[in-house]
Amino acid sequence: MSLALYDTWSRSVRPFTPIHADVVGMYCCGPTVYDHAHIGNLRTYVFEDVLRRVLMRNGYDVRHVVNITDVGHLTSDADEGEDKMEKGSRRTGESAWAIAQRYTEAFVSDWRALNLLEPAVWCRATDHIAEQIAFIAEIERAGYVYRTDDGLYFDTSRQDSYGYLARLDRAGLQAGKRVALGAKKNATDFALWKFSPVGVQRQMEWDSPWGRGFPGWHIECSAMSAKYLGTWFDIHCGGEDHIAVHHSNEIAQTEAAHGSRLANFWLHGHFLTLDATTKMSKSGGDFIRLQSLRDRHIDPVAYRYLCLTAHYRGTLHFTWDSLEAAHTALNRLRQLYARWPEGGTLDARFVERFDVEVNEDLNLPKALAVLWELVKSDLPPATLRATLDSFDAVLGLGLRNWTPAQTAIPDDIQVLLDERAQARSNRDWTKADDLRSTLLKHGWHVEDGKDGQRLVRVSGSEKAMDD
Ligand code: AMP
Ligand code: ZN
Repeated sequence: MSLALYDTWSRSVRPFTPIHADVVGMYCCGPTVYDHAHIGNLRTYVFEDVLRRVLMRNGYDVRHVVNITDVGHLTSDADEGEDKMEKGSRRTGESAWAIAQRYTEAFVSDWRALNLLEPAVWCRATDHIAEQIAFIAEIERAGYVYRTDDGLYFDTSRQDSYGYLARLDRAGLQAGKRVALGAKKNATDFALWKFSPVGVQRQMEWDSPWGRGFPGWHIECSAMSAKYLGTWFDIHCGGEDHIAVHHSNEIAQTEAAHGSRLANFWLHGHFLTLDATTKMSKSGGDFIRLQSLRDRHIDPVAYRYLCLTAHYRGTLHFTWDSLEAAHTALNRLRQLYARWPEGGTLDARFVERFDVEVNEDLNLPKALAVLWELVKSDLPPATLRATLDSFDAVLGLGLRNWTPAQTAIPDDIQVLLDERAQARSNRDWTKADDLRSTLLKHGWHVEDGKDGQRLVRVSGSEKAMDD
């Protein structure tokens, strides 16, 4: 069976073959840590985690590298505006360093709550200033750098293939010039190093051969991917917004310095949206994060399940209703799994069907359909458990670690339950539904089975999320 992945570079699904026989190198652009991650950001990391798990299922060792952007990302991707970290510092009164530390920790905690596998390397931009300076010096030696009053810029006009990943219309961009060029020569040129403003003491700044300042946003990824994976590695990932600017610039830098193409495959996750036109963003009003889910007694793993119901290149509009439906499906799966005995053997037919789907550019919605067909089949319970276990190595729902809550049912909850049982026997479905919502608000999910109501504790802090 062979794995095929959609590569943004070639705009096609092509068979995956690793550059080196033993280890697959995978670099994923990580968070800018000036605030919490929202669930849109997390959709991208879930997709990357599934990709990693599918690679592992195909027998590859994966060297997964994730960076933490804690300097250099300006409020505008056109190298203007304030550094997001310094802006965060003004907002909260803490130092930029303290903010970076706090949100890095918050991010890693979200990462674990979603059962994302730990990367081989987490790398911070501020821990790699020397590597970035050395990389810029190489680009300079190759003749792609010019200097302005406020920094060092990459001259994109020197590269014929610049913007290829995004199929950028450079002539159009240059002619349109809607963005103020400032001292830049071309609309697509970007900062490699920015000087600290005269008379201003930045919180994060370093000496360099060109003057005191800080690195541009894109150079960290070229420098750190080269350090941890080599200059030519297998897979580079990120959200779709990175194609036109950030990844195009990473490619430009690496090609200028090393003459090599950076990554063999480029994979990009489609944005989580709120409706047909609204993307979830850190600056937008609808900022939903994992804590917002816990506040509603929704287990973060339910969000992971929701992500699996859409293809990573497809649309996913977020609604609370769809998240609750995902939560119900997840809990149903957990309960079934927990009830089935261990010691069975895999059902080879189902495993094969599942693998065909995940190997076809990570078709998780179809893989989930295979899963539900399995669950509803009349195979022996031990076989069901063993097969589901094998699927979960890719899905990452942590079924094996979940234990039904042993918590005693509090009196007030029991009163609501009794009331609901009464409503059901009166066939008052509206009241029964209302009571179900009330119970959920209290952190109890109720299901109706043949033998009456079944209760599951769904508070976000339960054991289910530990790995
Ligand atoms: P940032 O922390 O803004 O640097 O973004 C971290 C990651 O989240 C990047 O890979 C972005 O492409 C991705 N991202 C940002 N917004 C969304 C969204 N609404 N849906 C999915 N991914 C997103
Ligand atoms: Zn990057």
